[in-house]
Amino acid sequence: MAKRILLTLAGYDPSAGAGVLLDLKVFESLGFRGMAVLTSITAQNSRSVQEVRCLPPDFVWTQYQILAREFSFSGLKVGMICSSANLEIIQKILKANPNIVKVIDPIFIASAGPWLLEKEAVSAFLEKIEGQATLLTPNLEEASLLTGIKIKSQEDLKAASRKIFIDSHVPCLLKGGHRQGPKIDLLFDGQKFHSFQHPEIKKKVHGSGCFLSSAILAYLTQGKKLTVACSQAIDLTHQALKKAVKVGKGQHYINFPL
Ligand code: PLP
Repeated sequence: MAKRILLTLAGYDPSAGAGVLLDLKVFESLGFRGMAVLTSITAQNSRSVQEVRCLPPDFVWTQYQILAREFSFSGLKVGMICSSANLEIIQKILKANPNIVKVIDPIFIASAGPWLLEKEAVSAFLEKIEGQATLLTPNLEEASLLTGIKIKSQEDLKAASRKIFIDSHVPCLLKGGHRQGPKIDLLFDGQKFHSFQHPEIKKKVHGSGCFLSSAILAYLTQGKKLTVACSQAIDLTHQALKKAVKVGKGQHYINFPL
């Protein structure tokens, strides 16, 4: 039987540590066929991002349209968007897919340093995707930029994930891994908070957010409840991060097969 298809709309990291190349590996390892629409191309290695080029929005749309004309997607993930113009196209694609699982991983700044989204797009972000996804997965820095809340305490985590839900009408899994103290990811599903604690990983691993959001999408598409999908994807990510290796001289990379 043909495998079901998951689509990622994200950027290209030629070192395959993050972006569409990583998303596709996660989709395939969890039993799906992966397809990818590129929003952008980066020039980077494990140490630094040298240059970022956003693809023209009409070309992002063309890549999507020709796929959508032929294939039907069971789930969709948004990663690096790159430009305000591409955010408009992403909004159009989300609206064209009202009935499937959709996970949005806001990617604003690479862990290696540079911005991966035009700064003007940050303030429009939640409004553009309002009500159009199953889950948002910001990290601490992205959640701060989206809400204006400086996140230090557990109460700040709650306030930020609730505010993201109020402003977007999309449940929010706020990844708290970079906070001092216990490593807690906090889900606000619109009604309740669910907290997921995991041990600290001391390594700096490239692409961990891409990995987590792709795994959540796969589990949700398998029919798992939001809390179960988040919990299992957080566990899988933790296992993958534990086994991550140094491929070059910079950040660690996730190893496949897992
Ligand atoms: N997606 C793409 C295409 C990237 O190039 C990057 C980082 O450079 C990321 C996502 C995020 O990666 P990281 O987890 O290292 O911040």
